[in-house]
Amino acid sequence: MKHRRSIELTPPGGYGLEEKQTLATLPQWFVIHARCGGCGHQTPLERRSIARRCGFDLSLAGLAKRLKCRECGNRDNLLLLEKLPRD
Ligand SMILES: [Zn+2]
Repeated sequence: MKHRRSIELTPPGGYGLEEKQTLATLPQWFVIHARCGGCGHQTPLERRSIARRCGFDLSLAGLAKRLKCRECGNRDNLLLLEKLPRD
């Protein structure tokens, strides 16, 4: 799937990460993105605001279930990770 900005998004498994990783255990250099399974809408998620709202113990699997697409209201969403370059 083509993406407008050329960032590489990979499901957690692609990095050897399990979905039971939580907002607390997921390394800081990963940016979480959500992609709608209905309309394909894709958006980066603010980890800190999610953690503040839902708690740091929220797992990636749990987060995926809570997401709701802003465009179409669909709840079948996929989490993808962007790996930021580390200094
Ligand atoms: Zn959607």
